[in-house]
Amino acid sequence: MAKLSLRDLDLKGKRVFMRVDFNVPLSPDGQTITSDKRIRASLPSIKYVLEQGAGLVLASHLGRPKGKRVPEMSLAPAAKRLEELLGKPVMMAPDCIGPEVEAMKPAPGEVLMLENVRFHPQEEKNDPEFAQKLAALADVFVIDAFGSAHRAHASTVGVTKHLPQSAAGFLMDKELEFLGKAIHNPERPCVALLGGAKVSDKIEIIRNFLKVVDKLMIGGAMAYTFARAKSEPTGKSLVEEDKVDLARELLQAAGDKLMLPADHVVTAEIKEGADSQAVEAIPDGMIGVDIGPRTIEAYANVLAGAKTVIWNGPMGVFEKPPFDKGTVALAKAVADSGATSVVGGGDSEKAIKAAGVADKISHISTGGGASLEFLSGIELPGVAALSEK
Ligand code: AMP
Repeated sequence: MAKLSLRDLDLKGKRVFMRVDFNVPLSPDGQTITSDKRIRASLPSIKYVLEQGAGLVLASHLGRPKGKRVPEMSLAPAAKRLEELLGKPVMMAPDCIGPEVEAMKPAPGEVLMLENVRFHPQEEKNDPEFAQKLAALADVFVIDAFGSAHRAHASTVGVTKHLPQSAAGFLMDKELEFLGKAIHNPERPCVALLGGAKVSDKIEIIRNFLKVVDKLMIGGAMAYTFARAKSEPTGKSLVEEDKVDLARELLQAAGDKLMLPADHVVTAEIKEGADSQAVEAIPDGMIGVDIGPRTIEAYANVLAGAKTVIWNGPMGVFEKPPFDKGTVALAKAVADSGATSVVGGGDSEKAIKAAGVADKISHISTGGGASLEFLSGIELPGVAALSEK
């Protein structure tokens, strides 16, 4: 890639504004983090900046506070964990902008964690004045938040307008290199498996994917919006009515590239251990909660012949067994295919781990939405905004 990388920067005596993805899971009271995976993922970039003799300002969002200060979504527990991992103090700012924060600017070798940038509504609006205030805290910008790079927000894109150099951190570089390889001249057949609940999030991506892949298999609740578009019965399954026309359009454009479930697992209520049965046509009053055995077989067959597999989103309500069968079976099929496999999204990752096949997956991306957009050929705003090498 022709974008500036962290390694290209002369950092001595500088102050770095690094956008990380510390959107970590927290205990309900917001006091302790339950996984430090995302913090660990940016440790190489963080350590490198400090070793180079720079001061480090870290910024991240956490959860969806919707522009308000929500104490349970503070980044203080993440700062505390980072302190333990680094073995050195991490200062916690009371906010992400303002005079108090400016007075805390880190000296070389010091780390300042800013408070949740989404406590300000200007963050998601990419407000230029807010971005300028963030940028005023440092001399150069580094983005290591791959999982947030598909959003043009103040701390991912806006800041780059106010700083002379903007570079990709190591985690970002690694993701772009791996995902880039997967779509640039992929070994064929290249197939995608898309699941999850919301067609609205993924419909544009489906359109793009159809240009890139040889087969696109749909599972999860998304399948029922397509079923409705084909005038098939959907019972009480989740259907996005306002997307049915779009789904119909996609079906026509895709021809036999797009595969939909041939059968479904249905239940009367979505509850762990609830009675369920496999059917071809969803009866009135029943809810589709997983792909059925015929679909598992058909999709697994396509996966077995694939050389590149892209997977995002569960095939059913996999959090509630036995509705995890389709997802887990296909996680195994992806692993057994021996194909170059790229998995994105927290749910698919959980399924991969539950199936015990994580070591057979080529790349598990740290960004669900971001990896999906990137793989479908969309340029991520957080990457586009970086300086050229
Ligand atoms: P997404 O965020 O769009 O990837 O959706 C993930 C969610 O989709 C998971 O929480 C699943 O439980 C849910 N999901 C998958 N299949 C179904 C289904 N058939 N009905 C309802 N929810 C589903």
